[in-house]
Amino acid sequence: MPRRIDTYLKDLIPEEKMDFYSVVRDFSDNEIAPMLLAWERDHVLVPDECIAKMGELGLFGLPIAEEYGGQGGDHTDLVLMGLAIGYHSQSVAITPGAAISLGAKPVQLFGTEEQKREHLPDLAAGKRMFVFGLSEPGRGSDAANPEVTAEKKGDRWVINGEKCWSTNARWASHVVVHALSNAGGSHAKRSTCVIVPMDAPGVSYQEMSGKRVWEQSSTGSIIFDGVEVPLDDTLGEEDNGFKVMVNTLNGGRLFIAGLALASLAFALDKTRVYAEERIQFNDKPIGRFQRVQDVVIDMDIALERNLTWLMHLCRLYDEGTLTREQAAKVKVDSSRAASDLLVLAMEVCGGVACLDEFGLIRHHNDLFVTRVGEGSNFALKDLIVRPLREQG
Ligand SMILES: Cc1cc2nc3c(=O)[nH]c(=O)nc-3n(C[C@H](O)[C@H](O)[C@H](O)COP(=O)(O)OP(=O)(O)OC[C@H]3O[C@@H](n4cnc5c(N)ncnc54)[C@H](O)[C@@H]3O)c2cc1C
Repeated sequence: MPRRIDTYLKDLIPEEKMDFYSVVRDFSDNEIAPMLLAWERDHVLVPDECIAKMGELGLFGLPIAEEYGGQGGDHTDLVLMGLAIGYHSQSVAITPGAAISLGAKPVQLFGTEEQKREHLPDLAAGKRMFVFGLSEPGRGSDAANPEVTAEKKGDRWVINGEKCWSTNARWASHVVVHALSNAGGSHAKRSTCVIVPMDAPGVSYQEMSGKRVWEQSSTGSIIFDGVEVPLDDTLGEEDNGFKVMVNTLNGGRLFIAGLALASLAFALDKTRVYAEERIQFNDKPIGRFQRVQDVVIDMDIALERNLTWLMHLCRLYDEGTLTREQAAKVKVDSSRAASDLLVLAMEVCGGVACLDEFGLIRHHNDLFVTRVGEGSNFALKDLIVRPLREQG
């Protein structure tokens, strides 16, 4: 069945980008969709073969410059990949998505030339994965004040503490740790980002258990017990680590908005087709009821509106003019609209929506992450309101 989202994308992106999207969409239809139910029922993470195939397609190097071994694409390409794969599974899409938007991106944005040459080629090839180590058990929205510490000892950092909710931890080669380096510094000027190899002595990882969202995505706790790394592995400026994290999150939030819209696009297609197939009362489809049509129409409007908005913001990101508020707003609105509408879509479909094989319940659960991840929507409104409170 043609995806409704494709109709809108054709008007929003150039032909060569549509060609790229179509390749990833077909890969997702043929290689991911048929496997999902088995992966879910067996409680397995994205299998290594699937990660390898995504690597062969070049998905881990999309916005990385060709001189560093990447595809030389842009942020729109990354979001298109999220739309194409997230249509079936956000948790598969977030694997290359987080590897790039949270893993490779800080190196691209803040790495020294030496750091770029050392890491980007392997990151682009999917042979290495970086994890974004911001959240901690006691520090979620209040991320500017890490409890993980980085203390200087000669020419090395000594790192102690725990990070959690680290996406891709299972496959990670390195973690970018956001750590307190100057307790007396002013707000957002007291932390430093350090690149730490996962196999450094004193680093241990544990997969978080009991997670019922993004089920095929790896989410880990990473513990640092007196871990020593050279000062040369500082990423960005010392005591200005929060800037590294915050700038990285702008692009990540566009990707999360894309995942929310991918789920909405799936729900729209599933619901509009089912509403014409499901017969009740006098051999007629439930799609004839206006209340059912309203839900389908509202999903369609939200998809076209937010997709148009998101593609525009991706262009601003690539031009370097995207503001934090713009990235926050599209993430807040897309995740909220998609998750609110998905509940109604499930109601339209009735009892069958409770079955895993129907597919909607997966998106229902995964959409919750888009509301909380990369800044909870409630907390992001603190950012969004700032320019609205300025005088004059
Ligand atoms: C599946 C998954 C993957 C993740 N991957 C990563 C990752 O790779 N790297 C990483 O560093 N983190 C990751 N995270 C963590 C994520 O970024 C945090 O969950 C998020 O920042 C919120 O922090 P918290 O969960 O500790 O919520 P808290 O900070 O405890 O907030 C709880 C709630 O309090 C309210 N609240 C908090 N602050 C405010 C405020 N200022 N105004 C109004 N209300 C507020 C909101 O309702 C919020 O949802 C991931 C999370 C999930 C669920």
